[in-house]
Amino acid sequence: MARERAGVDSLVQYVRGVGPKREQMFERLGVRTVRDLLYLFPRKYHDRRNLVPIAQAEPGTQAMVLGDVLGVHLHRRGRGKGVLDVTVRDESGEIRAVWFNQNYLADRFDAGDTVLLWGGIREYKDGLEIISPSFEHVGSDEHGGIALTDEMSRLVPVYPLTEGLSQGQLRPILRAALDEHGADMPEVLPEELRSRHGLPAISEALRHAHFPASIDEKDAAKRRLVYEEFLVFELAVALRRRKSKTAKGIAFKASAEIDRRIRKRFPFQLTASQERVLAEIKSDMQSPQPMNRLLQGDVGCGKTVVAVYAMLVAAANGYQSAIMAPTEILAEQHYRTICRMLAGSKVRVQLLTGASDRRAVRAEIERGDVGIVIGTHAVIQSDVTFHRLGFVVVDEQHKFGVMQRARLRWKGRSPDTLVMTATPIPRTLALTIFGDLDVSIIDELPPGRKPVQTEMFGLGRTRRAYESIRKQVAAGRQAYVVCPLVEQSEVLDLRSAVDTAAELAEEVFPEFTVGLLHGRMTADEKEQAMTAFGRGDVQIMVSTIVVEVGIDVPNATVMLVLHAERFGLAQLHQLRGRIGRGPDPAYCLLCGGAKSDEAKRRLAVMCETTDGFRIAEEDLKLRGAGELFGTRQHGLPDVRIGDFTEDIELLERARDDAAGLVAVDPALEEPEHAALRRRMLDLYEGRLSLIGIG
Ligand code: ADP
Ligand code: MG
Repeated sequence: MARERAGVDSLVQYVRGVGPKREQMFERLGVRTVRDLLYLFPRKYHDRRNLVPIAQAEPGTQAMVLGDVLGVHLHRRGRGKGVLDVTVRDESGEIRAVWFNQNYLADRFDAGDTVLLWGGIREYKDGLEIISPSFEHVGSDEHGGIALTDEMSRLVPVYPLTEGLSQGQLRPILRAALDEHGADMPEVLPEELRSRHGLPAISEALRHAHFPASIDEKDAAKRRLVYEEFLVFELAVALRRRKSKTAKGIAFKASAEIDRRIRKRFPFQLTASQERVLAEIKSDMQSPQPMNRLLQGDVGCGKTVVAVYAMLVAAANGYQSAIMAPTEILAEQHYRTICRMLAGSKVRVQLLTGASDRRAVRAEIERGDVGIVIGTHAVIQSDVTFHRLGFVVVDEQHKFGVMQRARLRWKGRSPDTLVMTATPIPRTLALTIFGDLDVSIIDELPPGRKPVQTEMFGLGRTRRAYESIRKQVAAGRQAYVVCPLVEQSEVLDLRSAVDTAAELAEEVFPEFTVGLLHGRMTADEKEQAMTAFGRGDVQIMVSTIVVEVGIDVPNATVMLVLHAERFGLAQLHQLRGRIGRGPDPAYCLLCGGAKSDEAKRRLAVMCETTDGFRIAEEDLKLRGAGELFGTRQHGLPDVRIGDFTEDIELLERARDDAAGLVAVDPALEEPEHAALRRRMLDLYEGRLSLIGIG
């Protein structure tokens, strides 16, 4: 134990200044060992190189001053309100530091303390004041301050904090950790890669990350640490890819006869894009290695059709298939579509949702009587056993956690897996992050589709939007009215939908039938509501976000989104995908008032384009990768220093280098790769088998 925990692997409590009591605080920062501590990257740096004498602080600028506290005055104005003013002096003069309504700060200052202040300077009477400055105690006093050494007086690191730990406390701890262990940190980057990219050695990078003497030093340190983080991740991905390529899967047969029989089932010609993707999938299926393919394509481009083809190939080979959809509605939708396509076929299709009669269905699946199982997460429950699962389709993969997908795969022995998504992942990211998935793209819509026309209706113009709906519905079309999502309150969501439906039915569209669909309805109720809409008995469907995915009513040509500014880009794009699925022109009406620039941009993008890839790129720009993909959910590493969106160039470099390393040393056995291998296993061993699993 003692040996294993030596050096940088020792627990953080053994660093001078930490101790068992602070250990938990560090745990909250994700810091367990000395290594974690040294890799705790500052959030930012305070530039103290411009410390000025108080008398020279310029009104109207931000400045940093250092002085002694002369007096502390708190002018209370009741209930935690008040003005705190602290007078500080250095050799050149005095300044008044003021804070508003932060009365508790009064206890932090005593006459005689030496403090560093950083903030905006203003004139005050005939002197100066500094407004709500950030501050720090200097010198080892009871506030846990630090000595103002030469080095620290330059760029000062500011760390992510947790309750109970201040910057003033963290810095000396980091200093101690660096002094004691900085030189022992193993170098994981092979010399060759470091010199090729001009990256500093680890000990230097750590020193410069925490206590840089210049901006250049900290930038170089950061580049190195980000690259390292990405390289380790990309290695895990590359190895996982290798592993899956060498695993033994099923070699399906796809004869011309099978092809002919399957095609007879489709009442249309496949598009060139669909044909290309199908060829890719078929070649994967025929090969004895397990397929692991991501199929991207805009809503309505015909992914499901391609999946059905593949499942029929599996069925012709005597294997079962499963298709997992994120919601019951979507599963049922798939079920109906697929049943229709397979009418009269020998292949039996079964729906397995939380609501269905599981026992009987499970028995059929286990006996192998069912060829295609369609379901929600119910498909992956442990009580479901397949007779011979050979092909797995995961629809709308962004809705599923990596674990769930992996579980479905384990139900078969290396079945081929097709992951479908209508939320396109920008190609660069897809290749890099899901580096172990092959990517196929359908980039055209079936012929005859016209892009949906999208228009913005500002506040107060909702009536105009209603008139557009009236025109369409009077001409025999149908409409969706989507109600806003109220943050974290299903009850409020529901109320807004119920109220809207009532208002529309009674006041706005008394001449039409208005339906309602929301997340609180039972599966049966939803089914009924959708069936009525599908048959055309209901002309206007008011709904919450549940229509987001998969609903297919070609006669619905208008969608009105209320408070569109509250929806994310990807959501709006998904919603809009519900219309424009038939031959008639379709209209998307976005109502609402965007306040933030970001919301304005989102709505503008929606009006400008229907191209899912462009929308995804914009979304990525607006939101960042973590939020877009739900880092955790995708089994992405939670990279701490780097950022998948901002550091894309380093990410690509790391990917190429990882591929190169694995090509020359597949098991990373060479001595110069030992440290790298260890780090990768430390971080990803448990998750290695999961990364990017479709
Ligand atoms: P996705 O799964 O990508 O959203 P679907 O496979 O559900 O798309 O197809 C959307 C609609 O387009 C369906 O009604 C489907 O029958 C139809 N469709 C798919 N491929 C074609 C094609 N090549 N020609 C005409 N219609 C098609
Ligand atoms: Mg679909």
